[in-house]
Formats: sequence, structure tokens, C-alpha cells
Amino acid sequence: MSLVSGPGRGGGGAGTLEELCIDKHVAYIQSLNKRSDELEYAYTEHLRMNGVYWGLTPLHLMNRAEALPRDETIEFVLSCQHENGGFGAAPLHDAHMLYTVSAIQILATLDALDELDRSGSGGKQRAASFIASLQDRETGVFKGDEWGETDTRFLYGALNALSLLGELKLVDVDKAVSYIQQCVNLDGAYGVRPGAESHAGQVLTCVAALAIAGRLDLIDRSRLGTWLSERQLEDGGLNGRPEKLEDVCYSWWVAASLAIIERLDWIDKGKLQSFILRCQDYDHGGLSDRPGNVVDVFHTHFGLAGLSLLGHPGLKEIDPV
Ligand SMILES: [Zn+2]
Repeated sequence: MSLVSGPGRGGGGAGTLEELCIDKHVAYIQSLNKRSDELEYAYTEHLRMNGVYWGLTPLHLMNRAEALPRDETIEFVLSCQHENGGFGAAPLHDAHMLYTVSAIQILATLDALDELDRSGSGGKQRAASFIASLQDRETGVFKGDEWGETDTRFLYGALNALSLLGELKLVDVDKAVSYIQQCVNLDGAYGVRPGAESHAGQVLTCVAALAIAGRLDLIDRSRLGTWLSERQLEDGGLNGRPEKLEDVCYSWWVAASLAIIERLDWIDKGKLQSFILRCQDYDHGGLSDRPGNVVDVFHTHFGLAGLSLLGHPGLKEIDPV
């Protein structure tokens, strides 16, 4: 999957405004899978695993999973696994939490987690052990790799992948929960580590991790719901922090957080849907971060995930966690 951006722009083309052009988006994602001869393809090799995830998930939501070759995708994912169980972004790239989580999510989407154990390789158990080995047993947070920094994104990714593998028992979930509790700010939202500024991306990782841990009772829903609903701007789009511009990817992070705490009605859902739809390129498919900008697979993924969450017709319902 290529991460090249373009060719089109959100809001471009001659389509009827505010109509979801599914066939165009399917063709757009398929075209990315064929653009491997471009220079940008080589430059983005370090993100290839994420690219496959960002391409596959919207196809799945549009009920068009078969638009990418299933066997080829599974072979690619398996070829990125290391002896220690972790996955790299591409074959021969270092193993990292983020790619390991994407690999597990891709295989789960394709209903192919058992392929990890193909010919008795024990790949499933090794993947779970790799993830578990990255937990700091003192604080409960997770590192991205054996050297790396800690981040609530890694904590959420770890719990997400381990729950898909049925191996949450390998880690100290209570410690992870108490770490998240230290990241909450006075505004009810969460930062990347204790004392860090609230950010919508971090809110989703913390709230979804608490959902997996079965500890949504720890959230101050009114305070967090208020902070999240203040992310909606005049044009219907959502931003990630106060004073920032609206961006389609926050449609996912903010709205999924609101859905988990059952406060999705606190924003204007209709206005958000039309904002996302205005980010489509009606000629070539794909979505951009805001109307007028160049489309890419990352925002195509988050835009369609947001529309699915909002119950847009023609899309499968997505699980906000
Ligand atoms: Zn964005």
C-alpha cells in the first residue's frame, strides 16, 4: 500500500455535494496498492504496515474487503514478523509496538489470526509475549520497542492487540489503569503522560484502554464530554485541542471517545457528517484533512471511520474501541 498523497483534493470534482461516493473511494485505495513504482513509495516504507491497515479498514467498512487481495495481504503481514514475535513496518524492519498492533488488527479484520500459528510456528503466542514484554512493570505504561519512550498510545495498542489475541492476562491491567489515571487533567481530558496537555488523540487512547480494562467508571463523563464537545467548530469539523484547526482525523478520535462515554449526542452529528463529506474528492476518490487539501489514505481511513460511527448509510457499523 502506497502512502503517496493525491492526486485529488478534498472538495474537488463534480459530484453532488454531501453524497458518499463509495465506488470512487474503493478505486482510490486500489490505485494506491498499484503505485509502488513511485519514489514516495520507497520513502514511506517505514509506514507500510500502517498503510495496509489504513487502506483495508475503510474497504471493510464499505463492505468491499475483497478489493484488496486477501492472501497477498496476509503473506505481507506474516513476512514482517520477527523471531521475538514483534512485527516491523516492512520485512527486515525493526519490530515495534505500533506495527505489531497494526499487524494483529489487519489479521483480525481478515479473520486470519490463526495464520500466525501456521505450521506450528507459535506466532500468536510470540506476538503476545512481545507486546507483554514492553510493559514497564513499575508504572504500568508500555514502551514502543526495547529502547523506546513510553506513551499512552502504546498502552492502548497493547491492550487492544492483547484483547484480540485473548491474552490480556499476560500484563498487569490494574497498573496500566492507574497509569492512565495519572494522565487525566483538570479539564477531564488526557495527555500523553502525567502533566502533559490534553489532546484528543490521547483522550481516545486512554478512554478506549479503560473500556478494554472494564474501568469506564473511572471517567468523569460530564467534564470529559464537555471538553470533547467544545472541539466542534463553526463548520462542523472537530479539532484536537483548543485554538487548533479542524481536521478529519479528529472526527474519529473525538467522536469515538464521545461514543464510548455515551455522549455522542453532545455534538452536532449532522454538521460533522457534512464536514467529512465535503473533504471527499468526487472525481478520484479519497478524503483530505479539510476541504481544499490533498487527499491521502490516512484521512480516508479516519473520515470513513467517523462516518461509520455517525451511522452514515452504506457503511458497516464500527466499534469505537
Ligand atoms: Zn489529520
